[in-house]
Parts: sequence; C-alpha cells; structure tokens
Amino acid sequence: MLTKQDVPTVECQPVPTRFDTPQWKFWCKHCRAWHHHGGHVEADGTIGHRLAHCHKPGSPYQKTGYFLRPAARFLVGHVCVG
Ligand SMILES: [Zn+2]
Repeated sequence: MLTKQDVPTVECQPVPTRFDTPQWKFWCKHCRAWHHHGGHVEADGTIGHRLAHCHKPGSPYQKTGYFLRPAARFLVGHVCVG
C-alpha cells in the first residue's frame, strides 16, 4: 500500500486559461512531454494528488501518481501570480 512518502511531488507552472479552474503543466522527465492538470491550490500549498498522465510504459509515476505543487516562483502565499 502506498503512503504519502512514496508519492513524488512535482513542481508545475501555471498555464493561462479562460476557465475558472487554474491549469498547470509540468515537464515529465519520464515521458519527455508536458502533462497538464487542472486544480486549485489547497491549504497545504499543493494542488493535490493526481493520477499520472504518463503514457510511457514503465514510468514510475504510473504506479503512484504524483502531488502537484506550484513552483515557488509562481506563488505569493497560496495565490498564483503566474
Ligand atoms: Zn509522464
């Protein structure tokens, strides 16, 4: 069974959107591709856990998913400034 310590955290950056839900992307080193997710920044400073968007067989993210966290340079407090 997975514990939180087993799940990696990836830093993401905001993507301009006209939708109400913020959109994010990060460069996946396993797939060598951008993965996009939507979600709000939560009280713990992350965007929460996501199932992996990985399409590359064997990507370790496929087992665990990942926590998304906005890169610090895009945040003031918990407000995205990207
Ligand atoms: Zn991936």
